[in-house]
Amino acid sequence: MFLRAFARKTSYSAHAFTAARREVSSVSSPSSSSLVFRQKAVRDAKSSSLLKAVADPSKEEVGVEPIPLLTSDESEDLLKIRHSTAHILAMATQKVYPKAQCTIGPWIDRGFYYDFYYPDGFTDQDLKKIQKEMYKIIRKDYPIRREEVSREEAARRIKEINEPYKLEILDMIKTEPITIYHIGDEWWDLCAGPHVESTGKIEQKGIKLESVAGAYWRGDETKPMLQRIYGTAWETQEQLEAYELFKEEAKRRDHRTVGKEMGLFSLQQEEAGGGLVFWHPKGALMRHQIETFWKDLHLQRGYDLVSTPHVAKGELWKTSGHSDFYSENMYQQMQVEEESYQLKPMNCPFHIVVYKDGYYSYRDLPLRWAELGTVYRYERSGTMHGLFRVRGFTQDDAHVFCLPDQITDEITRILDLVEEVLGTFGFKDYEVNLSTRPEKAVGSDEIWERAELALRDSLKRKNWDYIVDDGGGAFYGPKIDIKILDAIGRKWQCSTIQLDFNLPERFDLSYIDQNNEKQRPIMIHRAIFGSLERFFGILTENYAGAFPVWIAPVQVRLLPVTDTVDEYIQRVANDMRAKGIRVEVKSGERMKKLVRNAEKEKIPIMCIIGKEEAENETLAVRTYKSGDIGTFALTDVISKVVAAAEEKSEHASF
Ligand SMILES: [Zn+2]
Ligand SMILES: [Zn+2]
Repeated sequence: MFLRAFARKTSYSAHAFTAARREVSSVSSPSSSSLVFRQKAVRDAKSSSLLKAVADPSKEEVGVEPIPLLTSDESEDLLKIRHSTAHILAMATQKVYPKAQCTIGPWIDRGFYYDFYYPDGFTDQDLKKIQKEMYKIIRKDYPIRREEVSREEAARRIKEINEPYKLEILDMIKTEPITIYHIGDEWWDLCAGPHVESTGKIEQKGIKLESVAGAYWRGDETKPMLQRIYGTAWETQEQLEAYELFKEEAKRRDHRTVGKEMGLFSLQQEEAGGGLVFWHPKGALMRHQIETFWKDLHLQRGYDLVSTPHVAKGELWKTSGHSDFYSENMYQQMQVEEESYQLKPMNCPFHIVVYKDGYYSYRDLPLRWAELGTVYRYERSGTMHGLFRVRGFTQDDAHVFCLPDQITDEITRILDLVEEVLGTFGFKDYEVNLSTRPEKAVGSDEIWERAELALRDSLKRKNWDYIVDDGGGAFYGPKIDIKILDAIGRKWQCSTIQLDFNLPERFDLSYIDQNNEKQRPIMIHRAIFGSLERFFGILTENYAGAFPVWIAPVQVRLLPVTDTVDEYIQRVANDMRAKGIRVEVKSGERMKKLVRNAEKEKIPIMCIIGKEEAENETLAVRTYKSGDIGTFALTDVISKVVAAAEEKSEHASF
């Protein structure tokens, strides 16, 4: 199955300016998102009010004006601004550094970049000079003019200005006429547009060059290293400032930093190779909580668990079609006793193998088989990113085999489960996309119509709004994609529900119908988290490491004021452990330092214990969320923490 959400290829399509954009936005940044960032809340934020304001987007802070930070997909105006600013950057760069050669310069979610061939490399100081030159170009208010030329004419002009990379770009453009955009009479670039009318339309205080990094031409390690300058562009200075605050906040939440600080996981490029995740005890314990929740819930909701291997004969992947259509993402096969074996990039064929080992009548369907299945996919070494883009990851996969007239019910059940699973982690706002039949497709008109109708009916039953991507489905069936909204307004693609009319055909799957005849079952692929690793990264950034009590690696930390209370502390710890609470004792520092450390580690509940508490069998409770909240009976604290864990609530309710 070629779940599109996971099949992120770095593809170059016809037009260079839009092509590379896809490449970037799929790497790690959350996909398009209407970011509403509460600017003031962030400014006041050195205190925990920041956390509250940012961590709960549903809470409208009084007197705080949200500033929408739209992506280029969401705002035609911003798209024009970012597109135009990318060209202004290129023009300015060549003015200051005439030896720099231009390559591609696409817009991205909230800005743009431009790649230059410039072996000397750019420094931050150079960026400042370039930015100054950009201001000059803006102030001169050059008209931006479109011109259509033939391919030959475009090639001639490119040769005239000696820009070899542009010739390659020209080759990549498959449509004609070729469009050229002029900035005044001084400079031009190949581009399809759209742009603002003149450079003066750009607010100079709304743009900023952000960073420079190396990037291979066409993402290919064998090609020359280019200098990629990243920038951002907005309509107003206010928007730019809000965006910078947003970036600061995103940086503070970066799962790679938080994960390291909290000792949750590591990626060990040197020791083990890139894109492979090592879960450390605390992280593995959290993963265990998530997996247990997921498995238990699936069993409760009518799924069966299956468990399948990590490799299988190459022949299986031929039958499934993956070796033909998905080989770019697959590792080389290994030889075992003269037979080729393939590390699995997907779980689907394995579940099919299980299905084929049985014999089913219509009465046996639907079958719902779930597995936390670890898969391995090739990613280029330069494209890996924390837990977001890795080479080995675990899909929370399931396949449903059902009758055609069961599709609506099954999809609805899946949507219910999506809501239940994601909702438990605090994600309650979704963007839903329905992708329909593309031009080239397998399966009859009748089955496509029936399936699409079933998907729409299910969404209607849920009363969910959705966006239709007409013709955006895979060739083997329509699908529903679900994005979640995180605490700072970013959207992340997680769940996918995909119908498949292809694999049952390829593997000749069947069931026996009422008339004792063989029929093909409908196959549904679905994942809710998508990948456990990636979801864990999103979760970490959503909570900035301050995880809900039920998954927090340490739920309670006991802090003794004096060592005369040792005996009581041990009893508290034992009582808590006996009730399944994850508790630890820390001492040996002054109380202020102990509290500060616990807060740094984002432990949800601290219990401070002195003589008085020991005598009265109480605990002075301090929470990460609210600070000191008073003294409670030991039994009371235990039952509140146990209840929070059982109910999977974010906080214990004191
Ligand atoms: Zn352009
Ligand atoms: Zn599948």
